[in-house]
Amino acid sequence: MAHVGAKQILSKARQEGYGVPCLLAGNLEMVIGAVQAAEEVGAPLILAYNAQVTPQIPLDLIAPAMVKAAESARVPVATILDHGADLASIEQAIACGLSTVMYDGSALPFAENVCRTQEVVRLAHAHGVDVEGELGAVGGSSIELGYGNVHGEFTDPDQAAEFVAQTGVDILAISFGNLHGLYDGEPELDLARVRAIAGRVATPLAMHGASGLPDATYAAVIAAGISKINYYTAMARAVTHSLRDLLTAAEETSLVYHRVIAWTIEQFAGETRRLLHLLKKPAAATDY
Ligand SMILES: [Zn+2]
Repeated sequence: MAHVGAKQILSKARQEGYGVPCLLAGNLEMVIGAVQAAEEVGAPLILAYNAQVTPQIPLDLIAPAMVKAAESARVPVATILDHGADLASIEQAIACGLSTVMYDGSALPFAENVCRTQEVVRLAHAHGVDVEGELGAVGGSSIELGYGNVHGEFTDPDQAAEFVAQTGVDILAISFGNLHGLYDGEPELDLARVRAIAGRVATPLAMHGASGLPDATYAAVIAAGISKINYYTAMARAVTHSLRDLLTAAEETSLVYHRVIAWTIEQFAGETRRLLHLLKKPAAATDY
């Protein structure tokens, strides 16, 4: 259908009350599995590249595959640089043809985060590329397990409105008890804070660290005002467990690597399908 900016996909999602998964697509198996599932379900999707998670796969090698997969998909697909750390990585993502970039200045003081995000927005918008900014720190880690107790600084609703007005970001990632990685027990999400931010900010809101919530919580998070659901850890764990079973069952003498590739695609597709059904509108028939 079309390779589009994430803003277009997320604005419609926010208006109509469903969530859109943002999935890491650092290799071909992940790209193919995710897009296959989105096409089957008929739902839009955001494909992300994160340099911390797959540093061995350079962006300039995988980006053409992400972009081509998006262009050929029968559903709207956006591509995004996840957690861009500096202007150089943003420039590279734009040069590689991604439709959206995230600049994460959340560790900086407010004024400096505004200032650097403004610079990214100027550059990206000049190339027709959408921008996600982040305000309030989301703790945890997408690379190693065991960081579930680290809490970031929650996003202040008034500051969120000021941040969006001053920077012109197209998507805002917020902190309300969400964490990258796995939660230690049931997460305590401050959904009243999400509602307060959504009430002041028309820009679509992103939740990073959406892995492993109880199934019913996704609908509550979306109803509170979240549209972009960044999801990786739980999917990576499920695929890992299933690969371990495949390898354990394989005969010592069999050549199994090409089966690993096919299996990985199938598993990522299955996990994506499951997630897409969780993020649908409560009404059975979702028209994306
Ligand atoms: Zn994140």
